[in-house]
Amino acid sequence: MTTRFFTTSGKFHRGNLHTHSTNSDGILSPQEVCNRYQAEGYDFIALTDHFVGLFDYPISDTSAFRNEHFTTIPGAELHTGSMENGHLWHILAVGLPVDFMPPNAPNFRPVKGSESAADIAQRARDTGAFIAIAHPHWSGLTRSDARTLTAAHAVEIYNHGCAVDNDRGEGFVTLEQLLNDGRQLNLIATDDAHFNTPDHFGGWVMVKATENTPEALLAALKSGDYYSSTGPDLHDIRVSTDSVEVNCSPAVTVIVQGDRPSTATLHGGSMTTAKLPLERLGNSPWLRITVIDSAGKRAWSNPIWLSR
Ligand SMILES: [Zn+2]
Ligand SMILES: [Zn+2]
Repeated sequence: MTTRFFTTSGKFHRGNLHTHSTNSDGILSPQEVCNRYQAEGYDFIALTDHFVGLFDYPISDTSAFRNEHFTTIPGAELHTGSMENGHLWHILAVGLPVDFMPPNAPNFRPVKGSESAADIAQRARDTGAFIAIAHPHWSGLTRSDARTLTAAHAVEIYNHGCAVDNDRGEGFVTLEQLLNDGRQLNLIATDDAHFNTPDHFGGWVMVKATENTPEALLAALKSGDYYSSTGPDLHDIRVSTDSVEVNCSPAVTVIVQGDRPSTATLHGGSMTTAKLPLERLGNSPWLRITVIDSAGKRAWSNPIWLSR
């Protein structure tokens, strides 16, 4: 991605891309889930119920809950095929047609000979969906598992439900391994809300689009015109040959990461601009930015690929 979208026309729309309802194992109806998110200040959500036979392979039609200030993108959490550890894959697909063909996934146990995770992800991507590898830490995903999912646009690097319920919410190791393979993947923070624990309103994406419609949001997601957050806002990122400048809501730490252990890091009090030299990043082909506020909340840019 580039960082041009920060300064193009349009506005940022706050959304949650990973949510469950009573159409699978969540405890609130689709309408109530939409109501809660809109009341909390979100501009959109994707309801992504578990696409398994146990729940009649739901792709919830949430179009009735759209209004002037809130929209929805149809989606699902897809399940088929076994990871190296023998457990079932979890793949997020946002922007699915409601008639997307089910795999053979009767429940949460993998079925021998069923469609592979790589194949269903590609099939979903081919319909126009935005695809993310869900909660890799919680899943116990290996590097070779991750490498097979070539249709992915992104890795879920923060899953609020996993963070709150089992402290396995992060996916940065998986993401950076794939970046270091040369895969130009983005990242997402989500809730994975079921509303049966404090698993909601904790991780979101801020998507830059000229209008709050499913089509515009989906296009921006696939282009990487967004950032992810658990609190802070990113206002602009400018990359030059020897430094990165970041404008953000008040932060105590700003970090630039690349393909090596060393980073560029600036600590301070209520920083809203930060200029970080890139000399410690070497010739990393990608950079990404993390902003941390005084409450420990974080915002993350997508990886920025440099031509050098
Ligand atoms: Zn899952
Ligand atoms: Zn989920």
